[in-house]
Amino acid sequence: MEKTISRILIIEDEDRISSFVAKGLKSSGFQPTIADTGREGGYLAQTGDFELIILDLGLPDEDGFSVLKRIRNAQVATPVIILTARSSIDDTVAGLENGADDYMAKPFRFEELLARVRLRLRPQANGADTRILRVGTLELDLGSRRAKLEGREIDLSAREFSLAEAFMRNAGQVLSREQLLSRVWGYDFDPGSNVVDVYVRYLRNKLGAEWFTTVRGMGYRLDEPTDHTD
Ligand code: CA
Repeated sequence: MEKTISRILIIEDEDRISSFVAKGLKSSGFQPTIADTGREGGYLAQTGDFELIILDLGLPDEDGFSVLKRIRNAQVATPVIILTARSSIDDTVAGLENGADDYMAKPFRFEELLARVRLRLRPQANGADTRILRVGTLELDLGSRRAKLEGREIDLSAREFSLAEAFMRNAGQVLSREQLLSRVWGYDFDPGSNVVDVYVRYLRNKLGAEWFTTVRGMGYRLDEPTDHTD
């Protein structure tokens, strides 16, 4: 029934395990790619070329969690299955809260992993994404790409929506123009462009200026507005 071959990224430094997983996936009709460092894996994950990511927590250059964080900060919503030692299940539960979709305790049989892979690929194939981002009274439905403020629907363009999403994922943090450019417009966009300022102005007009703080020399920050009646 699968119309295209699903490409799966395996981020795992142990050859024994990565080749075991890659061989199994290949013989099950998937197209695996192996990255053996967090740096390489994180980079590949952000290309958007993969339908699923299998991520080992113990990597030589960095913790799998920091790779996961980088992937999610870059707004890559690809499902991630974590590979972890059976002794660190607590860490793994934290991983699920930090944007992983499932985990697999080592050692595992390939069939167990395959079942999880199939499970995670299915909702994506249906395009079902029911995640909702909320900051105060502002709400983004990532599935239907609709925005609501105080329960009222706000009409945002695709670009405005992506920009609002980047801000909401990092509420309370300053985002530089360069960060916003790379997240919303793509990393090869002209860094001298003022397109970010233009679109922040659009969002201020639609959502209310009080949501966005200009941090001089640094960028912008989204905060839940506090009521000032004095
Ligand atoms: Ca490892």
